[in-house]
Amino acid sequence: SSSRVINFGAGPSALPLSVLEQATQGLLNFSNSGIGIAEISHRSKEFTSFVTKLESLIRTQLDVPPTHSILFTQGGGSNQFSAVVLNMLARYKLLHPEVKDEDISMDYVVTGSWSKKAAEEARRLGGKSKVNITVDSRDHSASKVFDNIPPHESYKFSQDPALIYYCENETVDGVEFSHEGNSASSFPYHLLPKSKEESPALIPLVADYSSSFMCRPIPRLADHAIIYAGAQKNIGPAGLTVIIVRQDCIVDVDAAAKLGASPVPIMLSYKTLADSKSLYNTPSVFAMYLTGLVLERMKEKGGLKYYEELNRKKAERVYGLLKEGEEKGVFKRKVNAGSESWMNVVFDVLGEGAEKRFLDGAEKDGMKGLKGHRSVGGIRVSLYNAVTEEDIDHLEKYIHQFLQAET
Ligand code: PMP
Repeated sequence: SSSRVINFGAGPSALPLSVLEQATQGLLNFSNSGIGIAEISHRSKEFTSFVTKLESLIRTQLDVPPTHSILFTQGGGSNQFSAVVLNMLARYKLLHPEVKDEDISMDYVVTGSWSKKAAEEARRLGGKSKVNITVDSRDHSASKVFDNIPPHESYKFSQDPALIYYCENETVDGVEFSHEGNSASSFPYHLLPKSKEESPALIPLVADYSSSFMCRPIPRLADHAIIYAGAQKNIGPAGLTVIIVRQDCIVDVDAAAKLGASPVPIMLSYKTLADSKSLYNTPSVFAMYLTGLVLERMKEKGGLKYYEELNRKKAERVYGLLKEGEEKGVFKRKVNAGSESWMNVVFDVLGEGAEKRFLDGAEKDGMKGLKGHRSVGGIRVSLYNAVTEEDIDHLEKYIHQFLQAET
């Protein structure tokens, strides 16, 4: 472990060392079964009781109400781009069989490259139904890029959409919704259209939380229809996707198909996952195990209150360093004030060859994963749960040296 470096990668990303060491035990002998976790049956009593524990570690820490089920699957966030469309269109068809497909709309809030991708998938799978881009943050950017959360009055919701989609934290662009009430860059929950269903409370709100899941409490969680996240940023390795679904969105997709909705692949149907307690087929056993260990550790540390404070502090410190670099004319922020992500801090290093000097120097100093996404370049510092304040101390020292050398 002494050969390990500090990993600021955007995902897969750092995991707590203590958990990795604990997991080596489980690889040899899981839960005193005499069989390693990568070898044991997913139907064994040891593993099924572990899944129950995994569910409750999420439910209690995130305060998920009994109206919502917690499902586990594979295929990552990308698979959910498809699943949310198919399940929510099936739900809409069952609720409103009289509405023609061409009159159905799906609302997408586009604030970065991941929500843009999700909207493209909705267009691929939506058939005749429409994708309504509720707002595109590039239209509110001086340089026409994803660098902001748009002002509330710019959202144009449909009257009765089959779903309303947003991405809470845009991992590539470093843009995130604020969670401070109705601040200018919070999600405009107060503007959401009320549906014509029996209960106006059943808003079809879908959120991609892939890169901010369990880094702090989720505002208005109970008002969401679906919240999903790949585990590989804050809580585990790749291979596990967590879906929190309000039960009215777990629908009989076959009945909907009889009414004309698209058939849904069996593993994409939330009903399949719910009916089988997420064990319809062989799940990502090892990823679930590692995630369970991380969540247990999180609980011991004090849960989401603890991580919210830790992550706030980490982000404030790194944005502070970015500001210092800006004042010296060495760094340039990419995201507008008020829309910055706590999890992914993005900026440019100015000057001929300076970005390479920054990255090479960081690597020599034992820090990796700082290169921005290939589509946007620059630097990206990812600050997921397992990144510690000591890691920030190290980064701070390096950045101070770098700024001195560059000026
Ligand atoms: N949404 C967001 C916000 C992401 O950051 C990512 C992956 N980085 C995805 C979706 C796609 O997830 P996956 O790679 O698990 O399919």
